Amino acid sequence: MSQRPTIRTRIAPSPTGFLHLGTARTALYSWAYARHHGGQFVLRIEDTDVARSTQDSVDQILASMRWLGLDYDEGPIYQMQRLARYHAVVQQMIAQGHAYPCWCTPQELDAMREAQRERGEKTHYDGRWRPEPGKVLPAPPAGVKPVVRFCNPADGEVVWDDLVKGPISIANREIDDLIILRPAPEGLEGEAAEQAAAFGVPTYNFAVVVDDWDMAITHVFRGDEHINNTPWQINIYRALGAPLPQFGHCPVILDDTGQKLSKRRGAVSVTAYEEAGYLPEAMLNYLARLGWSHGDAELFSREQMVAWFDGSHLSRSPAQWDKAKLSWVNAQYLKQADDTRLAGLVAEQMARRGQPALDAARLQAGCALFKDRCTTTLELADWLGMLVVPVQPSADDLAAHVTHAVRPALQTLRDRLAELAVWDKASIAAAMKETLAAHQLKMPQLAPALRVLVCGRVQTPSIDAVLALFERDTVLQRMASA
Ligand code: GLU
Repeated sequence: MSQRPTIRTRIAPSPTGFLHLGTARTALYSWAYARHHGGQFVLRIEDTDVARSTQDSVDQILASMRWLGLDYDEGPIYQMQRLARYHAVVQQMIAQGHAYPCWCTPQELDAMREAQRERGEKTHYDGRWRPEPGKVLPAPPAGVKPVVRFCNPADGEVVWDDLVKGPISIANREIDDLIILRPAPEGLEGEAAEQAAAFGVPTYNFAVVVDDWDMAITHVFRGDEHINNTPWQINIYRALGAPLPQFGHCPVILDDTGQKLSKRRGAVSVTAYEEAGYLPEAMLNYLARLGWSHGDAELFSREQMVAWFDGSHLSRSPAQWDKAKLSWVNAQYLKQADDTRLAGLVAEQMARRGQPALDAARLQAGCALFKDRCTTTLELADWLGMLVVPVQPSADDLAAHVTHAVRPALQTLRDRLAELAVWDKASIAAAMKETLAAHQLKMPQLAPALRVLVCGRVQTPSIDAVLALFERDTVLQRMASA
């Protein structure tokens, strides 16, 4: 009886920027699919675009994966450390007639395309260095380092059944002989330079195949911008005699104007959402639903997602990034989050803003009190900032609420608060009650005045609970300005 291969998935980001939300979503699908099947998930860093890849991007990607809790079983594997392997595969392909060197200079290629455009043809490589039976190739020019091209089949169709999009077929005559290996680029340093000089640098479509083959990847989830690359890749698998993985191409994420989510029109990196005070479990939940569904479940844990994610119910049409929904999802998780954890996150937010540190007990009590009305930890920090940073009530609020009628009561209350034996919610409430009775006032007259003076705004949760969060001296000082 033949055994089914272990399910192995991967995410293969290029370190040319932060982890994009679209990549984070495919990482999540790949991770959940592997976990669902008891398989393995691999992280590969596709760093062969040496001009644009940076260590900083690698660090950001790793940090975002960690933050989201997308743990990988192998990796990070760096393509630039595998140059000898790609070179060896290229040599084998040349020997078997699946690849050939091409000495075209960039100028020749430009001229070739220009002539094709003039004739009204689609631009393509014309195969001038492709060996054919009976064809005499030109003599290699001196001083030009060749690239290596893949001998793409001239006829027939490439067909695959996409896990997301269904059957797709592309005719081979639509695609030309792709460059699979280039000579070392300028400007490389250290070991990478030596390796590249010896072995050349592979292009994405080739390295991705060798890697997915070597790493025994069974399922490839990625963005649908790669659909047009897939026929080349499938042809290379076939040339290598390698087993094909299954492909699932997820549609792009659109912004609220219906255009592809892009940096120019808002935050697109996982890091930006971490900094803006979203919780990783909310982010995962929201990303999962963006292009996948399980019945009408909107809120679910990562364990539930793993239990449900079997590769079905992936949406074929583009999803729209919905900030309001993300905020709603985050608010639900925030409400349930542990106060000690939230206190730590809020402390980080406040430190990032250069605000003085608050003690842990106060932070926790503050999180407990305010988390129901916040959507992010940044909003929590907005609230708790008032405990340590001077507030500036507006002139209108002062005029409307700190009136002649309440001033004497504020004075009495201030004196009582100054004398309280214990500074807590119950004692503060008692002092307020006595003050109201003594001045024949009602709570709706006193509370807004206190809120404006101490908190700098008219709306807050129950004022006795809010005052108890403050240092007593801060309250007395702010009330003195009445
Ligand atoms: N490095 C490619 C990208 O970031 C990977 C695509 C793939 O998953 O094959 O788009």
